[in-house]
Amino acid sequence: MSSPELSCPNCESERIVKNGKPHTGKQNHKCRDCGRQFIADPQHAPIDEATKRLVDKRLLEKLPLARIARVAEVSEGWLQEYINGKYKSVPRHVKVDASKKGH
Ligand SMILES: [Zn+2]
Repeated sequence: MSSPELSCPNCESERIVKNGKPHTGKQNHKCRDCGRQFIADPQHAPIDEATKRLVDKRLLEKLPLARIARVAEVSEGWLQEYINGKYKSVPRHVKVDASKKGH
């Protein structure tokens, strides 16, 4: 039972099986061809400009990242990368577990 929408980020195989749900509530998936495990969620979906503006505004308010991610409905991993890109030259002490295992 695999969704046709899903494909492996590693080998693009569509032979994907569900692999249990971790505490984060995000569905884990596993590729049957290469064994790669990944989470299929909107993490890789493009973030629209309105959401980015919302994030920018919240950043100015200095809200915790986890909170911003929640209100803007983006993943903390995406948020972290977005901020990294934004403040490339300015080292920021932010602590986010982007949980990029096996990457
Ligand atoms: Zn694969």
